[in-house]
Amino acid sequence: MAEIQFPRDWVQGEWTLFSDRDGVLNYLITGDYIKSWEEFHFLPGAKEALAKINPLFKRIIIATNQRGIKRGVMTAEDLEDIHQKMLEEIEEEGGRIDGIYYCANHPENDLENCRKPAIGMALQAQRDFPEIDFSKSIMLGDNISDMEFGRNAGMYTVFICQDGPPAAHAHLVDDHCQGFVAFAESFGSF
Ligand SMILES: [Mg+2]
Repeated sequence: MAEIQFPRDWVQGEWTLFSDRDGVLNYLITGDYIKSWEEFHFLPGAKEALAKINPLFKRIIIATNQRGIKRGVMTAEDLEDIHQKMLEEIEEEGGRIDGIYYCANHPENDLENCRKPAIGMALQAQRDFPEIDFSKSIMLGDNISDMEFGRNAGMYTVFICQDGPPAAHAHLVDDHCQGFVAFAESFGSF
C-alpha cells in the first residue's frame, strides 16, 4: 500500500531523488561517525529498495554531512573507500547512485556553504548533471536539516520518521514515511 502521496506532477523518469545517507540507507552509530567500511551496515532492505527505484528516477543523488573529516576522526580517503564499497554492493544488487556529495565542514566554519541545510551539495550536483530540476526533485532524509535543505532548494520533501514530523517543523515536510523501504514501496503502482 502506498505510504506517501506523490507530488502532483510526478512523472516516472523525469524526477531526481536526493537522499541523505546515514539513517536512510545505513544504520546510524549514536554519538559517533561511520569511519570505515567495517562500521557501515546497510539497513535491512535498503539495497533491494534502491534496485526497485532504479528505473523510476532520472538521477539518484546522495547528499551527506560528514564533519567527522574536519574533526579529524576520519579522512576523506576513509570516506571515499566506504562510498566505493557501498556503490559496489548497490550495483551488485541492481541499484545505482549517480553521484555522492559530502560536506566535511563544521557548521561554524562552513566556508563553502555546503553543509545541509545550505544547498551547496544540490548546486554541485546540478553543475555535474545540468538536467536536474529542483522543482522535480524529492529530498528524502531523517533529519530536519534534510528537510530544510530540500525546502531551501525548492524540492518536495519526504521525512523519515516513525510518528510524523514534529509540529514545529511541519511546514518543512511535504510527506513522511517510515524508511527507505517504505518509500520505495510507495512506488508499487508504477
Ligand atoms: Mg541522516
